[in-house]
Amino acid sequence: MKFAYQAVDRIPKQLEPETVYHSEEFELAGLLCACGCGHRITLLVPDSHQVYCDDGFATIRPSIAVCDGPCKSHYVISAGQVEWLDAFSTEAAKSLMQKQILRHVANDAKPKSWIARLWKAALALADQIKSIFGR
Ligand SMILES: [Zn+2]
Repeated sequence: MKFAYQAVDRIPKQLEPETVYHSEEFELAGLLCACGCGHRITLLVPDSHQVYCDDGFATIRPSIAVCDGPCKSHYVISAGQVEWLDAFSTEAAKSLMQKQILRHVANDAKPKSWIARLWKAALALADQIKSIFGR
């Protein structure tokens, strides 16, 4: 089997097997698991994965680990060809997923903490000004 690359505006509700749908606008890619289990895989592009079109076939980097599906498959897709890698154990899959979630949380938290720090600095400055004029 070979995975075809298909650029789409949005990922369709019904996915065809052996097709990687890529929506640049929504920064997502969708495909059905290569093992045939029917699990729908959604990738964050370019956040977690890169998707390339290779002569009409899909190349995805890095490997896809099916952490949230029953099969725990792990593979890379190169020019449509699936190369199987060692399956993750449930524990390894869990920790990988946690790492990915933590990374997203960290990404989300950055601007907030920056604003929080700025806000704190502004408050401290206001306190200083108050104490100068309060004397
Ligand atoms: Zn599968």
